[in-house]
Amino acid sequence: MTGGLEGYDEVAEANAQKSILDIHWSRICARLKAEVGEVEYNTWLRQMGVGPVDEDEITLYLPTRFLRDWVRGQYGDRLGALWHAEIPAIRRVELQVARGPSPAADGDASAAESGASSAATPPAMPVMDAVVVEEPRAAEVRSDLAAPLDPRFTFDTFVVGKPNEFAYACARRVAERPSSPGFNPLFLYGGVGLGKTHLMHAIGSELVREGRVSVAYMSAEKFMYRFIAAIRSQSTMEFKEQLRSVDVLMIDDLQFLIGKDNTQEEFFHTFNALVDAGRQIVVSADKSPSDLSGLEDRLRTRLGCGMVADIHATTFELRISILEAKATASGVEVPAKVLEFLAHKITSNVRELEGALNRLIAHANLFGRPVTLETTQDVLHDILKANNRRVTIEEIQRKVAEHWNIRLTDMSSARRSTVVARPRQVAMFLSKQLTSRSLPEIGRKFGNRDHTTVIYAVRRVMELMEQDPAFAEDVELLRRMLES
Ligand code: ADP
Ligand code: MG
Repeated sequence: MTGGLEGYDEVAEANAQKSILDIHWSRICARLKAEVGEVEYNTWLRQMGVGPVDEDEITLYLPTRFLRDWVRGQYGDRLGALWHAEIPAIRRVELQVARGPSPAADGDASAAESGASSAATPPAMPVMDAVVVEEPRAAEVRSDLAAPLDPRFTFDTFVVGKPNEFAYACARRVAERPSSPGFNPLFLYGGVGLGKTHLMHAIGSELVREGRVSVAYMSAEKFMYRFIAAIRSQSTMEFKEQLRSVDVLMIDDLQFLIGKDNTQEEFFHTFNALVDAGRQIVVSADKSPSDLSGLEDRLRTRLGCGMVADIHATTFELRISILEAKATASGVEVPAKVLEFLAHKITSNVRELEGALNRLIAHANLFGRPVTLETTQDVLHDILKANNRRVTIEEIQRKVAEHWNIRLTDMSSARRSTVVARPRQVAMFLSKQLTSRSLPEIGRKFGNRDHTTVIYAVRRVMELMEQDPAFAEDVELLRRMLES
């Protein structure tokens, strides 16, 4: 450092600020990924980078104008909401085209070689993980075998209802008596945002609190990065030993290991060694063991050998209970009418429900005004709109086919003449814009086409809309008709 102490302080301060933003950003990325799915995330969002904060606005970078426009249209509001939830002072997101350093978010450990991720480079994984991969020296890996447990995710803060009572009971049981026969492994599964991670952290915190056993919690993704880092630094033996020395190993989001054969193999061996030694394993995934196609059979079989507990989609009653608990904890008075309204409107998952309530609470705190039904509708208008829109792909196909006067069956036919291919592309484009379906799902509805065909269609339609105002107007008209 040549600039003397003062210069150093500035640099240090800038670095501190950057790393704080990185932590928020990595949480937001993880959340987005969970919400939109891997394919979608990798297609549109992975290359985004964080820029500076200026008063109430944060700048995000995307490498091309196309991506910038698309992300702005599709995810702009959501990005704003997520940033606001992380840092309430941020109220706006500015998306700019800029080519930062090559993104670290490749899902590839080689990214770690470039050293600490720069502010314009989104981390591929939570920052904690990145730190470990960057410096794969055995001592450090050892000192930080587990990801930290979130102190908010305890059994006390978990609201129990019909959809999750079984999973909750199993989790409690494992926390009380790890490695009991019949409960090892404990396999928790269910959709996004329904409380799997919360329950795993709760088990961990409970055990750590009692100081009884050593617990290691990590995402399957982190497991993979650790493993790759160990191979690179030729310390796989240490890695294995460390893992095999814990009393309770928890791996979150196991579906991530699908298609990652070497990591799966390593996990399988770790798993066997631990269970044979009478240690507890807890695993979560988005599907049941038998539905996790793509996992090796022998691993699947072993995963299903202990206790398998699913968390079902929330019911109205559970949503109300969760909202009540969270509102009470916040100290802000939220009228029962508003809670009912939210529980009716936001049915997707607890994470979204929580996000909506947090925003209301932040708003009330910021402006010191009471929460009412009117302010709720106003403050949450983007979330409510997204939850209102229930256009189906079939409807879109029908309307588009009518508009260009082609047969509905041509939406899924193999015919490739422009007369039918163009409307088909428009229908794919609108399906992407107006429904929450993933790219592969959309592809399937259009005669089992691949998701790359859908991406191509979306790009093509956007290009054409730029070149041909009449065409753009047609598409806009269709969109408005479908939305109303
Ligand atoms: P998953 O891992 O299943 O995707 P999470 O455990 O991350 O979901 O839950 C998403 C958010 O919703 C977390 O903030 C969590 O605390 C909250 N949450 C989920 N279920 C409940 C519940 N039953 N009671 C209280 N909070 C919950
Ligand atoms: Mg989770």
